[in-house]
Amino acid sequence: MQPQGKIGTVQVYTGNGKGKTTAALGQALRAAGHGQRVIVIQFMKGQINYGELKATEKVPGVEIEQYGLPTFVERGNPSPKDRELARKGFERAKQVVQGASYDMVCLDEINVAVDYGLIGLSELLDLIKGKPPEVELVLTGRYAAQEVIELADLVTEMKEVKHHFQKGIQAREGIEY
Ligand code: ATP
Ligand code: MG
Repeated sequence: MQPQGKIGTVQVYTGNGKGKTTAALGQALRAAGHGQRVIVIQFMKGQINYGELKATEKVPGVEIEQYGLPTFVERGNPSPKDRELARKGFERAKQVVQGASYDMVCLDEINVAVDYGLIGLSELLDLIKGKPPEVELVLTGRYAAQEVIELADLVTEMKEVKHHFQKGIQAREGIEY
């Protein structure tokens, strides 16, 4: 086999079951363990209380930035602030992907941001197509667009078989946030 240069792929974690964001964070942790530089850009999230924010302060090599409000975005009716923050997050994503300044870039909930119309699908497709070959790009969120799925190298659909939420167990520290 010919020696290969560093290969960066496009991973997508989508579907209605739990585990998409945590899969991306798991990849981030694994990469950081090998000294790689990772950035996680979270769309539609602005909660300072997420465990991953505190944990990554202790993990060299992983940075997390949030571009959202602490409140839910209303589907079909995002506020101007929701749009502005998503836009900022996307500009940041373009900068770090195109500049290849990190080995791995995770765009958490980007699929939802596209589905909700905060980010244009064509912009995301352009970002994927223009990715420097060495950058690993991880995209999460329900409702991944078919075009994104087609461009990706790896797609995992988390399927809800059961979720404790259905029996009334609310979001818990360390599990959901
Ligand atoms: P996690 O962040 O735990 O990996 P996720 O990224 O797959 O979950 P999202 O679709 O981003 O899940 O959902 C946001 C929140 O809703 C998370 O707190 C998640 O645990 C919870 N959640 C995920 N799937 C379900 C489900 N099927 N029913 C109810 N709540 C869910
Ligand atoms: Mg998620």
